[in-house]
Amino acid sequence: MDIFKPLDLSGEVQNHDIVNVEKIKCLIIGSGPAGYTAAIYAARANLKPVLYTGLQMGGQLTTTTEVENFPGYPDGVTGPVMMEDLKKQAERFGAEIRFGIATEVDFSGKTHSVIFDDNRKIEAESVIIATGATARYLGLEAEARYAGMGVSACATCDGFFYKGKDVAVVGGGDTAAEEATYLSGICRKVYLVVRRNVLRASIAMQQRVLNIPNIEVLWEHQAVDLYGENGVEGVVLVKKKGTPQEETIKLKIDGFFLAIGHTPNSEVFKKFIETNESGYIKTVPGSTRTNIPGIFAAGDVQDPVYRQAVTAAGTGCMAAIDAERYLSEMHN
Ligand code: FAD
Ligand code: NAP
Repeated sequence: MDIFKPLDLSGEVQNHDIVNVEKIKCLIIGSGPAGYTAAIYAARANLKPVLYTGLQMGGQLTTTTEVENFPGYPDGVTGPVMMEDLKKQAERFGAEIRFGIATEVDFSGKTHSVIFDDNRKIEAESVIIATGATARYLGLEAEARYAGMGVSACATCDGFFYKGKDVAVVGGGDTAAEEATYLSGICRKVYLVVRRNVLRASIAMQQRVLNIPNIEVLWEHQAVDLYGENGVEGVVLVKKKGTPQEETIKLKIDGFFLAIGHTPNSEVFKKFIETNESGYIKTVPGSTRTNIPGIFAAGDVQDPVYRQAVTAAGTGCMAAIDAERYLSEMHN
């Protein structure tokens, strides 16, 4: 493979030299908590699942240090260790874990075809999509420099580490309002950094945020840099950027939270699988069923609301049970 050629994940038909076609019962795409949990259940149900990890083996949690809210780890656990544990548990029951990225799908027939970047084609009777979502960042060089050292895109995950401290939340939508509200119960002061002079959040969320005494909204402010010796100690903000009143401000904070949206990794499936306007895969409420029989979705790729490891694992379990029931109905 030419590593300098970007992968096409648009799902459009490409010219492939398929080197191998394999027929299997259950294909799992993604190696986050949803994918590995689905693999544990599917393997124990004798579906002989094959799981493709994607580029980020272990998923989003491999980019974090401490995970303190996943049940079963009383002393906490690091993200990479937890994901290695889940992988081992899936392998123990016979799940086959392979490195590879789904680049094209054809869900028009009775068996479902997925092509991977190594030009392998899998024809699966059932497919569990567990490709997660990616938090959006501003694109500042400082966000990468302070990753895990004061920069976070998940208040529920990391808020506890800023108990009694001052933090900033960037964004003006429902997520930002929710994250700021959550942090206001833990932190001393929460600055909500909003680029316009209005919030996009629903009226109810706006009212809640504006009435919390330790939340201060910084209207028409944009974060342009972060500073600090061994972690975030402050943020550089530009007020009323591009106007005659433009002003640069340095604000001391300990934590910098991004809440400017997430992108679900659903692009490659969109030709066949229904998504909402933000790209989240639609599932039948109370199940992991998509609009195509035999295709199930679990974890953040179908969850615009909770986006937690434990909820991803929970829906991974549901997807494997849904797949098992679908297959036993198909064969009986
Ligand atoms: P992900 O973990 O996003 O995994 C998606 C998988 O799909 C990856 O393996 C990827 O390689 C694969 N993939 C994507 N596209 C393709 C493709 N085309 N082909 C093949 N594979 C593909 N949650 C908590 O509960 N507690 C925490 O403390 C916590 N901390 C967090 C810290 C950080 C920094 C971040 C970013 C998130 C944190 N979260 C936490 C949220 C949690 O990580 C997610 O909710 C969870 O990982 C979602 O699991 P998932 O299985 O749906 O997908
Ligand atoms: P969103 O509605 O798209 O809002 C993103 C916010 O981030 C907007 O305020 C946007 O500013 C801001 N933003 C984007 N890029 C930015 C940048 N580069 N610099 C500074 N600010 C930037 O995303 P969301 O809040 O994650 O919500 C996604 C969906 O989930 C929405 O439909 C929302 O209603 C829903 N949701 C609902 C709930 C709930 O009901 N409890 C909770 C969370 C999410 P502008 O406003 O200027 O564009």
